Amino acid sequence: MKQPNILLIYTGGTIGMIKDFNTGALKNFNFDELLKHIPELRLLDCTIETFSFSHPIDSSNMNPNYWIALADVLESNYNRFDGFVILHGSDTMAYSASALSFMLEGLAKPVIFTGSQLPIGDLRTDAKENLITSIQIAAAQNEKGPMIQEVGLYFEYKLYRANRATKINAEHFEAFASLNYPPLVESGVHLVFNEPKLIRSDRKSNLMVHKNMVTQIVLLKMFPGLEEEMLNHMLSFKGMKGLIMETFGSGNVTNEPWLVNALQGIIAKGIPVVNITQCPGGSVSMGLYETSVDLKRIGVISGKDMTTEAALTKMMYLLGRGLSSEEFKENFETSLRGELS
Ligand code: ASP
Repeated sequence: MKQPNILLIYTGGTIGMIKDFNTGALKNFNFDELLKHIPELRLLDCTIETFSFSHPIDSSNMNPNYWIALADVLESNYNRFDGFVILHGSDTMAYSASALSFMLEGLAKPVIFTGSQLPIGDLRTDAKENLITSIQIAAAQNEKGPMIQEVGLYFEYKLYRANRATKINAEHFEAFASLNYPPLVESGVHLVFNEPKLIRSDRKSNLMVHKNMVTQIVLLKMFPGLEEEMLNHMLSFKGMKGLIMETFGSGNVTNEPWLVNALQGIIAKGIPVVNITQCPGGSVSMGLYETSVDLKRIGVISGKDMTTEAALTKMMYLLGRGLSSEEFKENFETSLRGELS
């Protein structure tokens, strides 16, 4: 079997920074120097080519235009490579990885996001393990083709489904969690693939890349103390195309009539309203408590057990597809890329 060919894409983030030993400051890394700093990469059973954003960014500056740029790189290199590893800052990695999971329909090759909490040049870095194992996972194949055929996020010994992962820690090396879906791969002495949980692509379908992401979305987090005037102010945004509410527990909100009335007004304008839970684990279940019965009655869409990152990027993607209200609701409540149970 020929050696897999992996494209390593550098967008920025801590992983690619290096300590200047004279000044002690972190600075951006010359990406072409990467192989010199990680001689272990030469021992891997694959060939690696690299591509770098011309201006690498801290991922807090990430926006959908960069996602489109990434989708372009993946699309134009899709046939030439067997797998892709994307180096990305951890802060917004779950958003970018979720977005790409929706933008890449019919994906049949691995696209693995990774990064690190410490720069690659730091003595105690987590970058080397994250990078090396991500490349190994992207290169892993069996007789039927690539082991991973979806977008994943690898951090600290675990590969998660991209649209199930969320950043939970700014200090620990274990920075991500996926509370509603098990890891796809665990890295110990061996790489253990959780095969029944992997997406198997339809071999006949071709990659379709969707680049129309609609961003005029309001993300509203419920909190005790939210008042009618504050709500109305937020919802008066003229160009609003969609609303995502992060609600309590299993999808509950205050019973105050002004909230339901305001939401009903938005839905009447044809603007979709989605309910996701602010709990990191578990699912929305509208109608379970009296405090969510009205939401169900007025046509609020259930985000079920989706992460905020997945719900937000799924809404951007679906709004960009020009669906009717019924189609939007049906697609939102259906698993398109394994993002909900
Ligand atoms: N602020 C950095 C970023 O997200 C943190 C990291 O890389 O982990 O780009």
